[in-house]
Amino acid sequence: MMLSREDCAGLDRRDPLKGIRIRFRRPKDLLYFDGNSLGMLSQPALRRAVETIEEEWGEGLIESWTEAGWINLPERVGAKIARLIGAEADEVIATDSTSVNIFKLLAAALRIRPERHAILVEAGSFPTDIYMAEGLASLLPGIEVRLAEPTADAIGEDVAVVLLGHVDYRTAELRDMAALTAAAHSKGALILWDLSHSAGALPIALGAADFAVGCGYKYLNGGPGAPAWLHVARRWQDAFSQPLSGWMGHAAAFDFEPQYRPAKGLRRALSGTPPVIALSVLDAALDLLLEADMERLRASAQSQMDLFDGLLAARCPEAGLDLVTPREHHRRGSHLAYRHPEGYALTQALRERLVIPDFRAPDIIRFGFTPLTLTHVDVWDAVDRLAAVWREGSFREPRHRQRAAVT
Ligand SMILES: *Cc1c(COP(=O)(O)O)cnc(C)c1O
Repeated sequence: MMLSREDCAGLDRRDPLKGIRIRFRRPKDLLYFDGNSLGMLSQPALRRAVETIEEEWGEGLIESWTEAGWINLPERVGAKIARLIGAEADEVIATDSTSVNIFKLLAAALRIRPERHAILVEAGSFPTDIYMAEGLASLLPGIEVRLAEPTADAIGEDVAVVLLGHVDYRTAELRDMAALTAAAHSKGALILWDLSHSAGALPIALGAADFAVGCGYKYLNGGPGAPAWLHVARRWQDAFSQPLSGWMGHAAAFDFEPQYRPAKGLRRALSGTPPVIALSVLDAALDLLLEADMERLRASAQSQMDLFDGLLAARCPEAGLDLVTPREHHRRGSHLAYRHPEGYALTQALRERLVIPDFRAPDIIRFGFTPLTLTHVDVWDAVDRLAAVWREGSFREPRHRQRAAVT
């Protein structure tokens, strides 16, 4: 059955998330399907940025490291992220970028498995995951980076650590975390999960996973370049040793000892001074996600994805948008990826109509579903505008073929 716009409005009125949604800033007429690339700005995050700058920095100055609790922000923000991903509060810390955290965690894993010499990275990974593994291996003679499909068979007896994406950034395929973790462990390897496309989008059960990373600016709505986070299962924390051993990870940073001694617990994962303003913004944004409840958020995202796909098939079949994301709920993350030979031009034409998906080369249009900032009516309107773009053929105009620097 095809829902009318009025039916969609009814769904939104009954949606338990609607009280949270109104706390986000919505540019007029904009239909934003890119919360999986850069989450939207919330009022609490904006207020917190102003407070941190004007009061804590402007008035409190150096006292704010203790008075405003700046020094413990990485742990406090980490503890909130831990709740989102089903970890213990002391197993997550917010710091650096996802890329840098991957470097630190892979290095720590190699030190835990010194007799093994391979890092296995999923061949279709988000490229930075591969680049960072290769950068690390270039410093370590004898360590090899092996690219493979994310299957149990690919994990050989010489693999120290496996790095996998929980949700494929292109196709949105959701991996079976428990099964792949068990497969890695059965071969004696450790596993590092990249949750950049699942943390804050769906409930996660880390189970026996050893390590995880994820970023702060996508589903966590922490703002452009927000700090990322890393997770180390408690059982590895004493053995955890990472090479970017800066003073903030020292057991007694303010004793200024010449000799490095790692701090207890996950603080040793830190390197330099935390980015306080950015962490504060992320901290405020996380409260909204925690209030939303991941189960409710997930249910709403599934409903919006089904609606989008169903409306597209009913209203615009001739466009030939070919869904590459699995349709089964348990096999997909929170975006829908469609293949189309004119993908780039279509994305540009949609943007002109204030519908914002994104494009991933060579031919994939991604629509992200973030129900904290998106409604069923938005979904209906987006398909309506897409159908118009197709009907009118505006995407065929040459100006839509110029590639921008950021897609
Ligand atoms: C977005 C993303 C990253 C981003 O890494 P940064 O270093 O934070 O820019 C890494 N991995 C995956 C899978 C991503 O989706």
